[in-house]
Amino acid sequence: MRIEIINTGSELLLGTTVNTHAQWMGIELFKLGLRVQRQTTVPDGEAINLAMSEAMERSDVVIVTGGLGPTSDDITREAAAEVLGVELITDEAALRSIEAFFAHRDREMAEDNKKQALNPVGGDILPNPNGTAPGIYTPPRMSGDRLCALFLLPGPPSEMRPMFENEVEPRLRSLAGAHEDHHVQVLRFTGVGESDFHAKLDKELMTIADLEVGYCARTREVDLRLIGSKKSTEQASQLALSTFPGMCFSQNGESLEEIVVKLLDQQGKTISMAESCTGGLIAHRITNVPGASEVFTHGFVTYSNPAKQQLLGVSATTLEQHGAVSEAVAMQMAEGALAKAQADIAVSVTGIAGPGGGSEDKPVGTVWIGIATATSSKAIKKFTPYGREIFKQATSQDALNLVRRTLEESSNEAC
Ligand code: ATP
Repeated sequence: MRIEIINTGSELLLGTTVNTHAQWMGIELFKLGLRVQRQTTVPDGEAINLAMSEAMERSDVVIVTGGLGPTSDDITREAAAEVLGVELITDEAALRSIEAFFAHRDREMAEDNKKQALNPVGGDILPNPNGTAPGIYTPPRMSGDRLCALFLLPGPPSEMRPMFENEVEPRLRSLAGAHEDHHVQVLRFTGVGESDFHAKLDKELMTIADLEVGYCARTREVDLRLIGSKKSTEQASQLALSTFPGMCFSQNGESLEEIVVKLLDQQGKTISMAESCTGGLIAHRITNVPGASEVFTHGFVTYSNPAKQQLLGVSATTLEQHGAVSEAVAMQMAEGALAKAQADIAVSVTGIAGPGGGSEDKPVGTVWIGIATATSSKAIKKFTPYGREIFKQATSQDALNLVRRTLEESSNEAC
């Protein structure tokens, strides 16, 4: 199914608003096994007509966002009626619901808001409980030599997103009915590079019929995207999992921090962390996950040596003998965070982000990651000499992965 998106709004082209709709919809459509063929951004005004008529001639579905407001630059509705060659008529139910929206908020409705109830003949109104602009859907109709369905959605993300989920997705599912045996699976790996996939997996994946394979590499993470029939995606994911055992942290697109919070929650455990070079990034990632408050107790950001001593009880002698970036200090930091927070598991990081501070023994990019539980503690060494931001991101990823593996091992032992 050929889908195009048209995002309208001069602010998107002036650079004052980032076009998050395009990105968000791409992700949502992909989850349905659908893909955007083309995305266009146009300013408010006449350009919308041309963009819409061109898109409708080459697509099965066109989704337009923005320009459904009451002001003079909001002309998407009018543009759609012109392109479809139909009149706009007031939809009484839509008008009543706009009036109710204002009445409920004790606000007077302006005359201009009435135009938001206009609907191109043959269109369905898509309710908007979060704002005044209803969306519009026109079922497939001939446009050039093909049938094309059209969705008009409001601009504000808080209105567009729920309308997309509640009104657009079900209609797209039924329009795409013919493609039902179309599965999408995203496996997320860490601890293995894109080149490893090329060397160890690509050739075998290519032997599987009816399968499309794609990769997306990020810092310390590779997403393997599998698209095809149920049988082919299952076969491919089994192959990938057995080729890189223990490296896949998510089989349905969850982030590493979401997996860590989920594992902690399932095991009824709490976590604390002692961060030096990541400056709180690990705690930030964990607290981005809804439900983190059930499992996260303390985050110690101990950047200086005195902070490591005062807050975590790292010994002055160990610091002097081994230096702050060392296995011994990483372990004492994790053990200190565990004890002070009375958590079930603690992770620590201490490293040299650069550009200064490196030595021959401990070059810039060196980091020790410690982990402590009631029964054991250890530290592992990593090396990421690629600038402060990548260093911090990679280190947070390695630390969260160490937590994940420790939690998975403990649950395997419990079984
Ligand atoms: P209204 O005029 O009633 O607010 P509308 O449907 O006309 O709604 P716009 O005026 O285009 O929508 O946009 C409303 C708000 O939504 C603005 O803050 C705008 O910056 C934001 N917005 C619109 N399109 C996008 C987009 N593609 N990505 C992110 N934000 C957007």
